[in-house]
Amino acid sequence: MYDYLIVGAGFAGSVLAERLASQLGKRVLLVDRRNHIGGNAFDHYNDDGILVHKYGPHIFHTNSLEVFEYLGQFTAWRPYEHRVQASVDGQLVPIPINLDTINKLYGLNFDSFGIEEFFKKVAVEVPQVRTSEDVVISKVGRELYEKFFKNYTKKQWGMDPSELDASVAARIPARTNRDDRYFTDTYQAMPLFGYTRMFERMLDHPNIHILLNTDYRELEGEINYREMIYTGPIDEFFDFCYGKLPYRSLEFKHETHGIPVFQPASVVNYPNEQLYTRITEFKYLTGQEHPKTSIVYEFPLSEGDPYYPVPKPENKELYEKYKALADAMPNMHFVGRLATYRYYNMDQVTAQALTMFKKLSGEKREQPVQVRTDPATQKHIHSFEMAHKMHSNGHTVITRPS
Ligand SMILES: Cc1cc2nc3c(=O)[nH]c(=O)nc-3n(C[C@H](O)[C@H](O)[C@H](O)COP(=O)(O)OP(=O)(O)OC[C@H]3O[C@@H](n4cnc5c(N)ncnc54)[C@H](O)[C@@H]3O)c2cc1C
Repeated sequence: MYDYLIVGAGFAGSVLAERLASQLGKRVLLVDRRNHIGGNAFDHYNDDGILVHKYGPHIFHTNSLEVFEYLGQFTAWRPYEHRVQASVDGQLVPIPINLDTINKLYGLNFDSFGIEEFFKKVAVEVPQVRTSEDVVISKVGRELYEKFFKNYTKKQWGMDPSELDASVAARIPARTNRDDRYFTDTYQAMPLFGYTRMFERMLDHPNIHILLNTDYRELEGEINYREMIYTGPIDEFFDFCYGKLPYRSLEFKHETHGIPVFQPASVVNYPNEQLYTRITEFKYLTGQEHPKTSIVYEFPLSEGDPYYPVPKPENKELYEKYKALADAMPNMHFVGRLATYRYYNMDQVTAQALTMFKKLSGEKREQPVQVRTDPATQKHIHSFEMAHKMHSNGHTVITRPS
């Protein structure tokens, strides 16, 4: 008996649940098939008491004050600027490539002007930049492309950069100064007590009920709701009727070591020799002090949980076919990284959800989509609160609690 059934308790689903409940008094059932909230941003204390990100490192950065302030209602922030090193030719050097990367790699002593000339000299002229390879070689030339990008991209995407859309590499800069920050956004910070704590605070509202370990399809015919917000994979929603949208997946290998520091940077990328792409040491991100340290290796996979939509023109076309089906469904809203098949960061998903909220709050409500209830299912639901009921057209309808 809900206004909204929201599928997925990641950023997209949780932001919408929070807004709809707190601003419009809507009754929301938030369902996730995992055993936790937070989606891919979920973090937790491991057996040794170290805060780790289960699905790989999540670093918050944004240029949007609106997003930063919105999330700031649910967490204090810890200032954090991300820095990454790459292991190339037996050395650790800053990535994105900057002045120090080139000087250290080649034993040179360039200043900013010298490095600009260097890039000009090595850059390959590409008449029309179409692929990721084009983007990189036209900025830093073929040798650096091969040292830093070619194999990393092959590992990460299972494809040569020459087969990948230019957009994948478009945000990789090459700097002529010594700025070694991975991101240059205006707001860069980590939630002081972790992402999960932030989500818990966001979802702590009497109108929001959370159902974990549950695929929304198990609720079919058992829950009344007016509208559905879906944040899972869009192809799965339509039973893959046009075929599977390709995703890249990852295997995470978590380890804890009995030493305070494992590596000299929060993330070290391994473009070439190793099967994994990078190692992250969490204490750098969280600022936690602990005599031990926890790290995670990332091994890219072609099968497994869907993490990265693969940005190729034919996949976009396939997505558009699913989107056309989605657009034709009344009372259904698709939002988030998987439901819109876009490589979005957390701040972009938050912005997308806030925009969706604005749209929903201006829209007139339609008839409920489903009307049969099975009281037995309520045993799963936390803190169920009765709202005012009225009957219209033979359907049970929940109105906003006064
Ligand atoms: C390894 C990795 C590192 C990343 N690092 C960063 C970073 O540093 N900075 C950054 O800004 N972003 C990062 N991201 C991106 C970030 O994870 C996403 O932007 C964000 O998590 C997307 O939120 P979402 O709600 O769209 O999707 P998700 O977090 O994927 O949430 C979707 C939820 O829907 C649930 N679901 C799906 N289908 C069903 C179903 N049938 N029934 C019930 N539940 C269902 C899933 O279990 C999942 O919990 C990273 C992503 C990955 C994979």
